[in-house]
Amino acid sequence: MKLKNFFDISERIKIASDAALEKAKSKFNEIDDITEYNQQKVLSAFIENRVSEADFAGSTGYGYGDSGREKLDRIYADIFGAEDAIVRHTFTCGTHTLAVALFGVLRPGDTMLCVTGTPYDTIHSVIGISGEGMGSLKEFGVDYAQVDLGSDDRPDIAAIEKALEMNPKMVYIQRSRGYSLRPTLSVAEIGEIAKLVHSKSDAVVMVDNCYGELVEKIEPTEVGADLMAGSLIKNAGGSIARTGGYIAGRKDLVELCAYRATTPGLGKEVGCTLGENRNMFMGIFHAPHVVGEALKAAVFAAALFENLGFRVTPTSDESRHDIIQALCLENAERLVEFCRGIQSGAPVDSYVTPEPWDMPGYDSKVIMAAGAFILGSSIELSADAPLREPFAVWMQGGINFHSAKTAIMLAAEGLAKKGLI
Ligand SMILES: *Cc1c(COP(=O)(O)O)cnc(C)c1O
Repeated sequence: MKLKNFFDISERIKIASDAALEKAKSKFNEIDDITEYNQQKVLSAFIENRVSEADFAGSTGYGYGDSGREKLDRIYADIFGAEDAIVRHTFTCGTHTLAVALFGVLRPGDTMLCVTGTPYDTIHSVIGISGEGMGSLKEFGVDYAQVDLGSDDRPDIAAIEKALEMNPKMVYIQRSRGYSLRPTLSVAEIGEIAKLVHSKSDAVVMVDNCYGELVEKIEPTEVGADLMAGSLIKNAGGSIARTGGYIAGRKDLVELCAYRATTPGLGKEVGCTLGENRNMFMGIFHAPHVVGEALKAAVFAAALFENLGFRVTPTSDESRHDIIQALCLENAERLVEFCRGIQSGAPVDSYVTPEPWDMPGYDSKVIMAAGAFILGSSIELSADAPLREPFAVWMQGGINFHSAKTAIMLAAEGLAKKGLI
C-alpha cells in the first residue's frame, strides 16, 4: 500500500531536513543523556516522597493539610536540590511568581542589584523601571541598580564585584536570553557569580530560571543560588500543568515568599488545590522528556537554518542552557512567512494566519505564532518576531519532536515557495 503524504513538502526541504537531522545527531545523543538523568532524578523524588493516588484528590476552602500540595513542594525542592519550595496553581504566570519572590524578600531601604543587564520586559513595572502608581518595588522604597553585560554579552565580573560595594540586599540573575540575542547563562556561570557574591557580601542571590529548568543536569539552587522562580507553562509544568509557578530555595526565604503569596502568618499552610494536583504532578513528571523534545526541536531548527545560510543562536552544536532558539532571517518578509509556517503546523488554531501587530511596549510591529493546548504556553511550540533589526525570530518549545519538526519543515517550505530561501 502506498503511504500517504500528509503534508506538501518538497524534495528540496525533505533533503535539507535529513541533512539537518544528520548534523544534529550527536547533540541529540547528549540531550537524551540529560533527559535520562533528569528523568531518574524526578522519578526518584516521586518514589522518595511516596506519591499516591490520594495526593491527586485536591482540597477546597482553606486547603489545610493537603498532602498533595505538601508532597509537590517537597518534590520540587528535591529535584532542584533546594531546602524548600512553594508550587501553586494560583501563581498566574512567571512574572507574578517572580514578583512574589521579590516582594517576599525585599524591604524598604533595600537595594536589588540586577547583574545581567536589563531584565525581561514584564519585570520592569514590578521593579519600577517603567510605569507609575501600580505599587512597584520602587514605590515601596526598594532601590534598583543594574550591572550591564560586558562587551562580549557575558556578565561583567569585575563590574559586579565593584557594585557589591553598594551592599545590595539581593543580587538578581536572569538565566535565559529572553528575547535578546545575548547568550543564556549556564548553571556553572551562575554558580561563579553566586560564589563571588557570597564571598563579598550577605546578599541573597536570586535567579529568574524561566526556560532553564531541566535543560542541564544541575540547577542554579545546587550551585549557590539562594532562591529561584519560574513558570509552570514553560519547562517545569511539562505542558500538562494548566497554569502556575514555583519558587525554590533556602527555607527561610521560601517562607518569606509564602507569607507574600498568601499572608503573613498563614504562609504555606493554606491554599486549596481544587483539581490541579494531578496535572501538576504529571507535569513535573513529564518535564524532563518534554524539555528534551523542545531542545531537539531547537537544535533541528538551528541545523536546518544554518544549512540554509542563516546566522542562528545558539548554533546547532553549542551547549544549551535554555530552550530558546533565535534565527536571524534578515528581513521582515521572511519573519512573517516563518511564523505563518509554524502556525500552519500547530495542533490547535492551525487555520489562523498570524499578522504583524502593534504590541503594547514595542516600538515596531510584532508577529507571533502559537497554537497551543494551554493559552500562552511556550513549552508548546511557539515563535515571536519583532519586525525590526536584527530581524530575528525567537522560537521555543515543542512538546513532541516529530510534530515540532513537521511545523519547522512547513515553515521552511513556506519560505521556499515564496522564493525567500
Ligand atoms: C517568560 C519569562 C518571564 C515571565 O514569564 P510570564 O509567564 O510570561 O509572565 C520572565 N523572565 C523570563 C526570562 C522569561 O522567559
